[in-house]
Amino acid sequence: MPSETLETEQHILVTIACLSDNYAFLLHDKASGEVALIDAPEAAPIKAELAARGWTLSQIWLTHHHYDHIDGLPDLLSEYPAPVYGAATDAHRLPDLTVSLNDGDSFTLGQTTVNVIDVSGHTIGHIAFFAASVPAAFTADSLMAMGCGRLFEGTPQQMHESLSKMDAWPNDTIICSGHEYTSSNAKFALSLDPDNGALLARVADISAARAEGRFTVPSVLELERATNPFLRSNDPALRANLGMLEASDADVFAAIRARKDQF
Ligand code: ZN
Ligand code: FE
Repeated sequence: MPSETLETEQHILVTIACLSDNYAFLLHDKASGEVALIDAPEAAPIKAELAARGWTLSQIWLTHHHYDHIDGLPDLLSEYPAPVYGAATDAHRLPDLTVSLNDGDSFTLGQTTVNVIDVSGHTIGHIAFFAASVPAAFTADSLMAMGCGRLFEGTPQQMHESLSKMDAWPNDTIICSGHEYTSSNAKFALSLDPDNGALLARVADISAARAEGRFTVPSVLELERATNPFLRSNDPALRANLGMLEASDADVFAAIRARKDQF
């Protein structure tokens, strides 16, 4: 099964393709040798990656309760028993948690400190994991490459607040989102923001990457700020295209999200 690797001084980050368009991630802390799995869509490709690298699992972090983020867990735990981390508010519909997390909590993977952020919107209780020392964030179906998750449970106001929290991370934060949806997200972004040079350049890069079978996830927050319409509700050109120059950022976000649902 395909995977892609990104290595920094202190970490190895592996992106693993699962199911039809999901991603799971392995974060390896070099100093300690500890490894976290972020989301478990499907066991087989994750097990194959661990076996190929000779790694075992130290921790499993779950972002939210949807089946395509947790279904591989029982099979993985039978071979790699590891503590499972997830949102306390979602404990009733997540697999059994070892560690229940709340917004603002932090914990460590070896030398790596991890912050927990509530990013409700796609679901109520969706959390993101931010590791400043990488820097990387595991955002699953909240902030996505050129997109954001559909609002199954939360309001546009909630998702806008969640995205605003993520928008506060450093520019170079590696955004590890849950699906390969970028090509269709790009078409939507272009429909709102056709004169955005950074967006036009990114769309060309994405077409080339997909033609070669490469992943478009993870991405980098600076590029999301420049091209992701869901982070650009304060952009004058985008607002002008929507006829919403005077609206609040949250109302502009809500209008963009509603248009995406119809796109
Ligand atoms: Zn989901
Ligand atoms: Fe998903």
